[in-house]
Amino acid sequence: MCDRLLAEGHEVVGLDNFQTGQSRNIAHLANEPKFQFEECDVTGAIPDFGKFDGVLHYASLASPRDYLAFPLETLETGSTATRNMLAIAHANDARFLITSTSECYGDPLEHPQRETYWGNVNPVGPRSCYDESKRYAEALTMGWHRVKGVRTNIARIFNTYGPRMALHDGRVVPAFLDQALRGEPMTVFGDGTQTRSFCYVRDLVDGLYRLMLSDERYPVNLGNPAELTMLEFAERIQRLTGTKSQIVHKALPEDDPKRRRPDITKAKEVLGWEPKVPLEEGLRETVVYFQSVIDATPVATAG
Ligand code: UDP
Repeated sequence: MCDRLLAEGHEVVGLDNFQTGQSRNIAHLANEPKFQFEECDVTGAIPDFGKFDGVLHYASLASPRDYLAFPLETLETGSTATRNMLAIAHANDARFLITSTSECYGDPLEHPQRETYWGNVNPVGPRSCYDESKRYAEALTMGWHRVKGVRTNIARIFNTYGPRMALHDGRVVPAFLDQALRGEPMTVFGDGTQTRSFCYVRDLVDGLYRLMLSDERYPVNLGNPAELTMLEFAERIQRLTGTKSQIVHKALPEDDPKRRRPDITKAKEVLGWEPKVPLEEGLRETVVYFQSVIDATPVATAG
């Protein structure tokens, strides 16, 4: 998104506490005069950087493995950080966009998921730190819009993948690619019949950029409706990489949603947006990236 904003001619200030983000992802912007970066936790005090036209609040742990390990930080980011960023937008009379999530639908009983579906979320289960803090963040965003007139947008992002993901963040795309490229067993959780729909990052960024410029105040799904089971996904990656890795089954995490696919009718109508990059093509670019990360990682030697 920083690359896209800079390409569109904007000046950008980036904030990240690097709890899961990686500084290597912005290293190429080090000498970019229109880009400024501050290592900072947005749940706390935020330095004054002057006047903003827009505030994009993307902060959160997003991988289930990460938010299960840091539930309190996840809750704080959805709540306190969202309040902090809304306050900055309000003080600047700036636009505000929050990246919410398909997890607002929980383990959905409606399929595919439209924005009008209220969801099926376990409020006290292990995933609730993420699901409920994002649902609260949406409610807070609507509150600041209704009471204080902040020009808000809410994106409900479905599974996204592409270069610059962290290799070991536990999510299924880096996990399967890492395992396939190293020739290690590919870990399908449960029987692998659960489904997901994967959107390439460049498509997602385009949807977010369009949403930021729109006057749509209610949530908009952004994702790729091409749905597949995790077993099919593992087999696709086997074929694509030509790996000899075999599929092994591991325990399904608690409350793992069984089906997930966005209905993107609203994004098409309101933003004129739909994903363009087919899974095969996006995965090929992602393989090149992960292979370069693996090649640059020193191999631990015994003794
Ligand atoms: N998954 C899997 N093997 C892995 C990691 C994940 O089978 O090594 C499954 C997981 O159970 C879920 C799907 O892949 O059904 C997507 O998981 P991910 O953690 O990427 O994100 P989620 O969609 O659950 O937020």
